[in-house]
Amino acid sequence: MVLKVYNTLTRQKEEFHPMTGNRVYMFVCGPTTYDHSHLGHARTYVAFDVIARYLRYQGYDLFYLMNITDIDDNIIKRANERDIPPAELAEKFFKLFIKDMDTLNINSVNLYAKATEHVQEIISQIETLMEKGFAYNVSGNVYFEVRKFGDFGKLSGQDLDSLQAGARIEVDQEKRNPEDFVLWKSEKPGEPTWDSPWGSGRPGWHIEDTAITTKYFGDQYDIHGGARDLIFPHHESEITIAESATGKKPFVRYWFHSGFLNVEGEKMSKSLGNFFTIQDVLQKYNAEIIRYFLLYTHYKSPIDFAEKYLKEAAVSYERLNKSYQGLISAVENAPDDTGTTKDDLELLEKVKKYREEFLSAMDDDFNTREAIATLFEFSHTLNKALFGAVNPPAKDTLTQIQNTFLEITNILGLFEHDASGKKTDAGDNIVDELIGLLITIRDKLRAEKNFKLTDEIRDTLKSIGVKLEDSKGGTSWKIVEKKE
Ligand code: AMP
Repeated sequence: MVLKVYNTLTRQKEEFHPMTGNRVYMFVCGPTTYDHSHLGHARTYVAFDVIARYLRYQGYDLFYLMNITDIDDNIIKRANERDIPPAELAEKFFKLFIKDMDTLNINSVNLYAKATEHVQEIISQIETLMEKGFAYNVSGNVYFEVRKFGDFGKLSGQDLDSLQAGARIEVDQEKRNPEDFVLWKSEKPGEPTWDSPWGSGRPGWHIEDTAITTKYFGDQYDIHGGARDLIFPHHESEITIAESATGKKPFVRYWFHSGFLNVEGEKMSKSLGNFFTIQDVLQKYNAEIIRYFLLYTHYKSPIDFAEKYLKEAAVSYERLNKSYQGLISAVENAPDDTGTTKDDLELLEKVKKYREEFLSAMDDDFNTREAIATLFEFSHTLNKALFGAVNPPAKDTLTQIQNTFLEITNILGLFEHDASGKKTDAGDNIVDELIGLLITIRDKLRAEKNFKLTDEIRDTLKSIGVKLEDSKGGTSWKIVEKKE
């Protein structure tokens, strides 16, 4: 089976082929860290976590990068209200965001890149745009002159004239044209600033992401994601900036956009105040139920949120969990020496078929809804074999079924925890954390294309008996025999 993905840029489903061999670079727009993350954020980040997991499962060497907007108007406003520095506020909510991601078992991101740590890259990209005549400076504010880029609107299907007629863009006396957008904002009293060739100030929003991806991925890359509200103007402007700066097209080959999580027909959002924070929801429902609820809808479709739907999801998830717990105890209690019967072979054939159906649903634009439907058929068959058959399956058969079940459910990030919430494959904590740290550092080096050091880390770890594996499910590790 070939993976097919819906691409917002071409408005169709296409076969997925990376730019270079097996390597896939994926960038997803991260949050603006001025408040707690809510269930709407979880929707988008769980969706892209599963996309990342599946790409790795299929053997792609994926590097998943996410930016963090840690300087913007909302951050400054909120920090002023609380009388604290904007950097302190942004750091506090960045840490809470990471905690939320961790609790939701979103562990696929290789690197979080903060805007404030990439100001030099932003300035040099603006300089390139100035040199090429795409940007202009008015009293320390630098704007992109959109009309100079012939392709504006190709992602969102908008054209400049209808945008102006519909007043979708802000008119500002200072700009040459209403559609021009800001790349660098001149200093305002009381705001954090950085030095630049145009005077002190701070970066505009759109250029943050293009400067970051150019640094880590180069001029062109494979996948860019985010929720659908970002298609215009944010992603459209990113294309405009990057393709003007480099002259290379397409900037990104595949654009994936997730649908909204809505409350009574309106997008859950900080500004509307109709949100439930991830931590609020976790008080009542565990992370796997939340993931299950979010994944039971295809990632592009909207999700209607009301607590009753979450309750229903908890009941459905419990049905799957019950089968799985039944399977675990059957494996533990089965005698060792019974041979495989004809019924066992038939059962294994069915399980093989469910696995194939699950994977073909995922190959169809990451259709988690269909994939979950297959899990229910799997669990129905399993229940019959465990509780309805005269002779229970042999231990070896049950173990094979358990492996297949975990192999596919781990793509969704489900059934990775035991009843107490502890990770099922958790090893010694400190060792886990130290090796995790080395893997993170190695990911950063890999993003900087420092392959000499990444190889050295891998080889040194191997020589002390820790083998890193860079394939399915990201970089994992295991203890192996020491290489003397
Ligand atoms: P923000 O911090 O508001 O910039 O949002 C960070 C990411 O979460 C962006 O990709 C948003 O589009 C996405 N997002 C925010 N609210 C929702 C929602 N209600 N449903 C789905 N995605 C959302």
